[in-house]
Amino acid sequence: MPEKRHAEVVGGGFAGLAAACALAKHGWSVRVHERADQLRPSGAGIYIYENGLRVLETLGAYDEAVQGAPFAHTREMRDENNNVLSVHRWDPSKRVFSIKRQQVITALANAARRLGVEIALGSEAIGATPDGTLVMADGRTLKADLIVAGDGVNSKIRDSLELVAKRRALPDGAIRVLIDKTPEEIASGDGGTTIENWSGSLRILYTPVSPTEVYIALTMLDADKRATQTPIDKDYWKKAFPHWSDLIDRIGDQGRYDRFEYIRLKSWSSGKVAVLGDAAHALPPNIGQGAGCSMMNALALAVFLDREPDMAKALTAWERNERPMTEHTQRISVFLGLPTTWPSPLRRAFLTLAGKSKWMVAQRTKTARHVPTGT
Ligand SMILES: Cc1cc2nc3c(=O)[nH]c(=O)nc-3n(C[C@H](O)[C@H](O)[C@H](O)COP(=O)(O)OP(=O)(O)OC[C@H]3O[C@@H](n4cnc5c(N)ncnc54)[C@H](O)[C@@H]3O)c2cc1C
Repeated sequence: MPEKRHAEVVGGGFAGLAAACALAKHGWSVRVHERADQLRPSGAGIYIYENGLRVLETLGAYDEAVQGAPFAHTREMRDENNNVLSVHRWDPSKRVFSIKRQQVITALANAARRLGVEIALGSEAIGATPDGTLVMADGRTLKADLIVAGDGVNSKIRDSLELVAKRRALPDGAIRVLIDKTPEEIASGDGGTTIENWSGSLRILYTPVSPTEVYIALTMLDADKRATQTPIDKDYWKKAFPHWSDLIDRIGDQGRYDRFEYIRLKSWSSGKVAVLGDAAHALPPNIGQGAGCSMMNALALAVFLDREPDMAKALTAWERNERPMTEHTQRISVFLGLPTTWPSPLRRAFLTLAGKSKWMVAQRTKTARHVPTGT
């Protein structure tokens, strides 16, 4: 029997764990290196659409990932007076769940372990070379047939290979937290409505993610230092959203501010190193598809490496096939973020139009409707 090919995967996030599951399913021996001492994603909640759900199904992580999570069927856009500007109802034939991030990561990690993947915690990599050598922070060097860089937006592996063509900090960012539902919210039963509420350039996104918890994302311009402050400046947020005062009080002292970024690479691979997820294509979260694209590209990587024994040819074919959908997703996400810096009346007009225009809705939902390679 031929020896199993071996992959060293850097990063225990959506990209790294999905790649680990997919490669292991295709017969590789796989080890994941996560620098933190636990698999604990930051960012509280996440939307996973039909495309990402199909990947989770293929990888054997779906049931655990979505357990108890609401089907996010409706999204309401509201203005500073809490008036509804537009209502988008999700096509019921296409799934979308709003879920706690930890639940999806745990489900992927459990699926990976069932497939024989070793997950090394507290294990930091600092660079790689195209010949398949991974350099660890503790000085070790590890050889592999494939190295996967899923180490996020500040990827050291990507940077050691000088792959960045464009990296841009965007004008806005977010603070994300999970809060407990009130007894009234639990009793109301409808966990499927997301409320996106704007006031000037500030936004509160209210998303139920479990029978007992709500995911709150506060977004703002990076230049607005009172808004980016953590623990959040409650007086500031209450002044902008008086109708959400009780909710703002429930946020407590948790939360971290993250600025949005855009990244494009010269190439998604260099020799035996493939770059995945935010490391390869960070994007603003305006259509909730960063993790979706990460997981699609991770599964596709294993499929292309299976189809074509020549690694260089396989990696080229993988990138040629997957990159257009990822770049569409980046373009539309950046486009939908443009109004963040516009005056309120103009932004309101744009968002109302974007919610009603069939063409815009089709562009926005194209990634979710895409059938990922290997599913
Ligand atoms: C506000 C906001 C909302 C979002 N909402 C959505 C959404 O609803 N739906 C969606 O699909 N996407 C969403 N995204 C995007 C999504 O969070 C990212 O695209 C996704 O987390 C990328 O996964 P990743 O595995 O590439 O990177 P990460 O999630 O950043 O994971 C990288 C992992 O690598 C580890 N690591 C880093 N460096 C090293 C190293 N040197 N050695 C070892 N380990 C290392 C880190 O500790 C981390 O665990 C959102 C993003 C933001 C900012």
